[in-house]
Amino acid sequence: MITRLQIRKPDDMHVHLREGDMMREVVPHTAGVFGRALVMPNLKNAVIHGTSAARYRDEILRACSELRLPFDPLMTVKLTAQTTTDVIKGAYSCGVAAVKLYPEGVTTNSTGGIRDPDQINPDVFRAMAHNGMVLCVHAEEPGLFSLDRESGYLRHVEKIATAHPNLRIVIEHITSRDGVEFVHRAGPNVAATITVHHLLITLDDVIGDKLNPHNFCKPIAKREADRAALVTAALSGNPKFFLGTDSAPHAQDTKECASGCAGCFTAPAAIELLTEIFDAHGALPGLESFTSIFGAQFYGLGLNMGTITIVKEPWEIPATCGAVVPFMAGKRIGWRVAK
Ligand SMILES: [Zn+2]
Repeated sequence: MITRLQIRKPDDMHVHLREGDMMREVVPHTAGVFGRALVMPNLKNAVIHGTSAARYRDEILRACSELRLPFDPLMTVKLTAQTTTDVIKGAYSCGVAAVKLYPEGVTTNSTGGIRDPDQINPDVFRAMAHNGMVLCVHAEEPGLFSLDRESGYLRHVEKIATAHPNLRIVIEHITSRDGVEFVHRAGPNVAATITVHHLLITLDDVIGDKLNPHNFCKPIAKREADRAALVTAALSGNPKFFLGTDSAPHAQDTKECASGCAGCFTAPAAIELLTEIFDAHGALPGLESFTSIFGAQFYGLGLNMGTITIVKEPWEIPATCGAVVPFMAGKRIGWRVAK
């Protein structure tokens, strides 16, 4: 029986770190475990230019250096109808790694997103491909029934991927069997991130019994067959699937209310919960590829140098982390990252 596991420092290829006090509150949970994370641009004032991404990176790095946490935030900018090739070049020169496509209005702070992906200037995608920048897609078709939104958006991704075979595209936080099958079928320029929570919950864990707002996220968790397809993909060793937690903190009062925010704050136990899943399937040897290798390779990054050690030692996910209730608060889990 494996009771101790050493893996290369992981990368979280999709995280929300927010800004200000909330950022300082949540960033240690990510920076304390992950070597790098791809930081989403949907702040209250969205990050749409390289200069603001660089400022945001400095804010994160300042917080991490005060905590003496070595961490390399990978930055993103949000694609808007106003994004030009010059904006892309400028973002590249500021070290931005990826550009995020949000359909208009589908999730937190996604107003000002893209109404019709056909309207995006193809030169913008060409400029991204030319500079080796990745397109990250929140693949949900606005206006469709919530369980069908991901499936309904895949045709847009297919169109972009076919027209721009040199553009690397990540479908973020896939939640459906259709999404998994699409990524398998698509060319080598298409990959997907998978969250920890979508490997663990279905819609029933959100609304099947009493309403659980801390399991409410976008895209919404779906049917058991979808969850099972995600688990199979994560365990498959196929490098097109890698970890992006989509850890998304919201203050407790903005989750436990009418019109509650979407997002699961998984960072405090992401690697531990994931280790439990891989362990339960006898797949611990494949954990490192999913967390620390496939994402970096798809992004064309070197692998992290350090390691983390995960030990079989029970602990309980705390009831709160500052103002935020973490995902699966109070749950006793069997693995722990050694500090
Ligand atoms: Zn997200």
